[in-house]
Amino acid sequence: MAAAVLAGAIGAGLAARESGSQPAATPPPRASASEAATYPPSELVRSCESAGQALRKRLDDDFAILVRPPFVIAGNTTAGELEQMARWSVLRPAGAMWTSYFDKRPDKVITVLLFKGDKAYRWWAGTLFGDKDLPHFGYYRNVDRTLVMNIDTGTGTLVHELTHALIVYDYPDVPTWFNEGLASLHEQCTVGEREITGLPNWRLPALQAAIAKGALRSLRELVSARDFYGPGQGLNYAQARYFCLYVQRAGKLPELYRHMRSAGRAAGADVKAIEAALGKPIQTVEKEMIELVKGLKFGR
Ligand SMILES: [Zn+2]
Repeated sequence: MAAAVLAGAIGAGLAARESGSQPAATPPPRASASEAATYPPSELVRSCESAGQALRKRLDDDFAILVRPPFVIAGNTTAGELEQMARWSVLRPAGAMWTSYFDKRPDKVITVLLFKGDKAYRWWAGTLFGDKDLPHFGYYRNVDRTLVMNIDTGTGTLVHELTHALIVYDYPDVPTWFNEGLASLHEQCTVGEREITGLPNWRLPALQAAIAKGALRSLRELVSARDFYGPGQGLNYAQARYFCLYVQRAGKLPELYRHMRSAGRAAGADVKAIEAALGKPIQTVEKEMIELVKGLKFGR
């Protein structure tokens, strides 16, 4: 499974290409400048400092700890290595998501534990939290807002889970299809100063196969059925991810996010939000998305 974040210099160039030459007719509201300017609040800074000290006592000397509110990040690595990982896989992606989508930022500490080596990952997850039977890549503990990651497997899952950890402050009732679509879009991406851009990844072949067989359900059904984690889960992730990628390539993902956030949960609200953001009927959106997906390539 490829799960690398291709971080760095190409971010800005991609954004220019992907937003095209036509500015949105009505620019979406940005995060209030005042909130961004006063963030993080001093109370959160203090909470992060004490969380960092508490973590220092629980972990051993192999660990470096970094306090970057709202994040407290620890890893069994050198301080320099941790700083690099934190920058490219936590701080930059978070900054890009706040700039592009999320107006409200966390008011509580988010802990990020990055373990090098499967053994350390499992041992510490058991010792710190009593967690067993862990997923291969890592997971998010909702209860104490902690990301626990096996960093040897790549950073794609980290950015996926980070998306969930951040979106909840801004859009608490986000429908699952959109939450997972956006999070999985970020599994393979480039990260610029202000934007995070999804790339084709390992979820593509199954989606292309379903399209070829005529076995893919309609986009309307995906966003209306509320059965994301049902038997079709694997394909649902792929369909939601590549829908988000299609919207991103149309330069409309921030608009879609804002339309979705204000859409409410009434029946049909998600379809209306999609049509309003893209400015076309959902059947047309779907046709264009399928055409895009057919032409995408993912290979190693
Ligand atoms: Zn997820």
